[in-house]
Amino acid sequence: MNELNFSGGPGVLPASVLAATQEAIIAVPEVGLSVLGISHRSDWFAAVVEEAERNIRRLLDLPDSHAILFLQGGATLQFSMIPMLLLRDTGKTAEYLRTGYWSAKSIPPARLEGEVRLLWDGESRGFRSLPKSEELFHAPDAAYFHYVSNETVEGIQFHEIPGLDSVRRVCDMSSDFLSRPIDTDRFDLIYAHAQKNLGPAGVTVVIIRRELLEPVPRGIPEILDYRAHLAAHSIYNTPPVFAIYVVLLVSRWLLNDIGGLDRMDAINRQKAETLYTIIDRYADIYEGRAAHEDRSRMNVVFRLPTAQLEAEFLRQASAEGFSGLKGHRSIGGIRASIYNAMTLDAVEALSRFMREFAGR
Ligand SMILES: *Cc1c(COP(=O)(O)O)cnc(C)c1O
Repeated sequence: MNELNFSGGPGVLPASVLAATQEAIIAVPEVGLSVLGISHRSDWFAAVVEEAERNIRRLLDLPDSHAILFLQGGATLQFSMIPMLLLRDTGKTAEYLRTGYWSAKSIPPARLEGEVRLLWDGESRGFRSLPKSEELFHAPDAAYFHYVSNETVEGIQFHEIPGLDSVRRVCDMSSDFLSRPIDTDRFDLIYAHAQKNLGPAGVTVVIIRRELLEPVPRGIPEILDYRAHLAAHSIYNTPPVFAIYVVLLVSRWLLNDIGGLDRMDAINRQKAETLYTIIDRYADIYEGRAAHEDRSRMNVVFRLPTAQLEAEFLRQASAEGFSGLKGHRSIGGIRASIYNAMTLDAVEALSRFMREFAGR
């Protein structure tokens, strides 16, 4: 059942968005053609991109100092595009936080472009906690500072923006973008692929401070140059029309059905609280992975005392219609991903199941 899909990614989408998507695959109402066969050069699609951008701007209260781009290549391509733009040929050092699986992946591509300094490495702590800003010592002339706001695999999330505002701040928000309000002015570049919180795979939203786009180092292929995408209004080559259309539907849902990011945040907090309460109450059976103050409101990660009990938990959960609960292959255990579109009802159903399982 869709509504009980706790998958880490691609994540659930709102039922109303799935219904509108189903309709659009046969024919977009205002066009009469399938979304899979409408030209990316049509006026209709230009309007889709424009509205998606406008909606995201409204949701985030994003000033015009920042541009919004819809790119391909996932968050992983940003791991390379960012140091190509901001580190190559600068002679400076980029500062990275290594807080879990995804931030660790972001570092090797940066090393290809210049010096990288790890400002903090959480490996010796098992990637269970995150640093406080007081523990981070920036070099004043760092090229930029990169971190991941929510470590999707380990289930740890920054609840305050780390680092100094005097160093350019770059953040991978792939798994918590649009899950809560953010102070966008404190960021120079934010990126998030769609497939966890805002649509299907295929499109990545990049928010970039326009100032960063001059000067651009030499030797960057045009398709990897943010300016080319900006000049082409995100229609540089054939974009993922379908994925961007679904992102538009999700942005409308956030604005009109949910009522904005403050409301979304309140719902997300309630969902996370519901599951962590059960984990804390039945601590002899559920061991939460994250340090309490860094617990993610998107990915609730825990273990049971034995591999056998975990297998039994997954078997019984699956028999009751829950899916996607198996932890990431790199660390095992259980992960309940409760992205924006996961309903409080579904989370309450999972918490009931967890309570009953603990009882048995
Ligand atoms: C899933 C994930 C990625 C990987 O994104 P792709 O789009 O598959 O390249 C990167 N960063 C974070 C935080 C993620 O959760």
